Amino acid sequence: MNVHDSEKMAGILKAEGYTETAYTEEADLIIFNTCSIRQKAEQKFRSELGRIKLLKIKNPLLKIAVAGCIAQQKGRDILKRNPQVDYVFGPQNVHKLSSMLTADTMVCIEDNPEIQHTDIPAERKDNVKAWVSIMYGCNNFCSYCIVPYTRGREKSRPSENIYKEIHELSENGFKEVTLLGQNVNSYDSDTNFAGLLRKINAITGIERIRFVTSHPRDLSDELILCIKELPKICGHIHLPLQSGSSRILKLMNRGYTYEDYLEKVGKLKECVPDIAITTDIIAGFPSETDNDHSLTIEALKRIEFDGIFAFKFSPRPGTKAAEMDDKISEKIKSLRLYEILGYQDDITLRKNKELEGSLQEVLVEGVSKTNNGKITGRTRTNKIINLEGDAALVGRLINVEIRKALRHSLEGRLTNQA
Ligand code: SF4
Repeated sequence: MNVHDSEKMAGILKAEGYTETAYTEEADLIIFNTCSIRQKAEQKFRSELGRIKLLKIKNPLLKIAVAGCIAQQKGRDILKRNPQVDYVFGPQNVHKLSSMLTADTMVCIEDNPEIQHTDIPAERKDNVKAWVSIMYGCNNFCSYCIVPYTRGREKSRPSENIYKEIHELSENGFKEVTLLGQNVNSYDSDTNFAGLLRKINAITGIERIRFVTSHPRDLSDELILCIKELPKICGHIHLPLQSGSSRILKLMNRGYTYEDYLEKVGKLKECVPDIAITTDIIAGFPSETDNDHSLTIEALKRIEFDGIFAFKFSPRPGTKAAEMDDKISEKIKSLRLYEILGYQDDITLRKNKELEGSLQEVLVEGVSKTNNGKITGRTRTNKIINLEGDAALVGRLINVEIRKALRHSLEGRLTNQA
């Protein structure tokens, strides 16, 4: 979501006549598009902001903007504490960027009740696959999460606007779209999410449709049927579990139990047997016991995810979880995270090994960054695959035989074009 917001900022700046430079010393404008989902990202931003101070001394005409979720949370305080900053704007005010640039200083962190109708042309670096926002904000208030406070309440874009954007992408040669929302399953405009998927599936030229993120509570039977029936929907779903303990899930305010989650996964696997499922796990949520942790390990073993994103719990000021008692020590959090990642690494490798010898449809995304003679792409199940091949294949669907499975990628051999 954050990366796509940056693409929109780049789109606005391009229309204003700006060009991009890789060197901060040359820039007339530097925008920090910040993330506050974990403390580490915040720390990184603060040290970069300090570093950039020197540039402003050398070039007093340089303008510095802070965007994203930290901007939304801290607002005017950023200007007060960092005199080198000129503009502060939150994720709901990206559309104001060009008008902001004519002011000396400006802070834009108000709610945008019309965000779903505020379409901004994105400047995309990729020309094979594209992110497309279908909704903004979130109504869920998971107790650890800052997003509903920074991105506001859920608002869905009209399906016609989304259709138009994707249609244009297809005319420009894009082959894959990833529909973006904090909780795509609760998309609710002139149609629901399943209706939107049917509409997008009919767009000629688009070969693959992906979406993130699905909330397990809102994963409907209708959506599962769509994944099964609509040929362009890829066989991969990211379904954040967060914990294998229903007690912890309740404290997280996730709105489902571990058993509910298992039931949904069971339906998914029954309906779409080859589906790849990935998830998010938080290690060391407040009051998490050894037993809760072992329930998470059990869940990993039982569900056999294709991959996970696991992180240590990071208290976000302003959220309920940040105020909870029984915080877990950093040491225990690290140990639990290490164990979670260790178990999952074995599962991921085993699942990838099962693919050795199989034929997979691959969308070629680009030339390998480390080897000019190699191309890289993804299977429908979102596994990264590298193989020998020509740059002319970029943007094409090809059939690939999987020769070797590694933990984080596959190696293959081109058989013929799909
Ligand atoms: S569903 Fe929960 S974790 Fe996801 S953005 Fe909303 S509040 Fe945050």
